[in-house]
Amino acid sequence: MLATLIHAERDIRVETVPDPVLSTGPDAIVKVVAACVCGSDLWPYRGVTPTREPHRIGHEFVGVVEEIGPDVAHVAVGDFVIAPFYVCDNTCANCRNGVSTSCLGGGWWGGNDRQGAFADAGQGERVRVPLADGTLVVVPGPIPDELVPGLLTLSDVMGTGHHAAVSAGVAEGDTVAVVGDGAVGLCAIIAAKRLGASTIIAMSRHPERQALALAFGATHIVEERGDEGIARVRELTGGIGADQVLECVGTKESMDQAIRSTRPGGMVGYVGVPNGGPELPVRTLFDRNVGVNGGVAPVRGYIEELLPDVLSGAIEPGRVFDLELPLSEAAEAYAAMDERRAIKVLLRP
Ligand SMILES: [Zn+2]
Repeated sequence: MLATLIHAERDIRVETVPDPVLSTGPDAIVKVVAACVCGSDLWPYRGVTPTREPHRIGHEFVGVVEEIGPDVAHVAVGDFVIAPFYVCDNTCANCRNGVSTSCLGGGWWGGNDRQGAFADAGQGERVRVPLADGTLVVVPGPIPDELVPGLLTLSDVMGTGHHAAVSAGVAEGDTVAVVGDGAVGLCAIIAAKRLGASTIIAMSRHPERQALALAFGATHIVEERGDEGIARVRELTGGIGADQVLECVGTKESMDQAIRSTRPGGMVGYVGVPNGGPELPVRTLFDRNVGVNGGVAPVRGYIEELLPDVLSGAIEPGRVFDLELPLSEAAEAYAAMDERRAIKVLLRP
């Protein structure tokens, strides 16, 4: 089969690799219907995280189950399934506590599972899925093709934006600011609106992303950054700052922006993968009673909650995909996202 590998900085290749095979009882083999490139895939692409040897890449996919192992009970051949960006059993203590990203039996796409068998990465034609009953969520069919992009966002970006809003405690009538206008930031706007926020300030300086932010429910756009951006947020919030600020970037600057845009007593929900060393200014948080909550989003637990709204069209997170390419053009997908020619690229095997 074909799958995407990263060989080195800015070196993405689609190559022939061995077909996956069932290796443990709880496995499934999924034929990928759609996959995509994540903002976090750009860190190795840009060389920010080094690639020491060529390896498979991609952690977001939806597909159809082709084979199941003898211990699989809740997933059947032919089911359309959403895979979260990690493997989990959905039964251990951490999963039951809502932190399935810390699953005691879990793992990551493109690496070996706990039994030492390879779990394929998402940007390929097929994936061996360990712990299929826990990892996969079945979507009742038939699935119209136009719903595929929205369903694909549930494997990462929509659930991650939702985690920012949930971690910050967004509730009916709140004023929320969102730092970051990538796919996660845009999905955080959808999530804030869905949870009842009445004012949503999107911090963005790109016209196409501003338009999507407004379509998703943002009520105000702030283009300024740093002190000027914080001053604008305060102007829009009666001089105090937002009730919640959703940090969807992961840099020192974006975390600083988020913390200082939050009102006294407010909460930052952070989901940006920390890069560039953001650290918490505890004295500032103390003086202003600002809380910080969040982390790597346990999206597996959010899929069932968000799925009905995607199926009904009540939310349309699939609109974050502004470019679709065949899997064979994965290298161009990375380049388009790296150069910000695309917000998020969907790949079709
Ligand atoms: Zn678990």
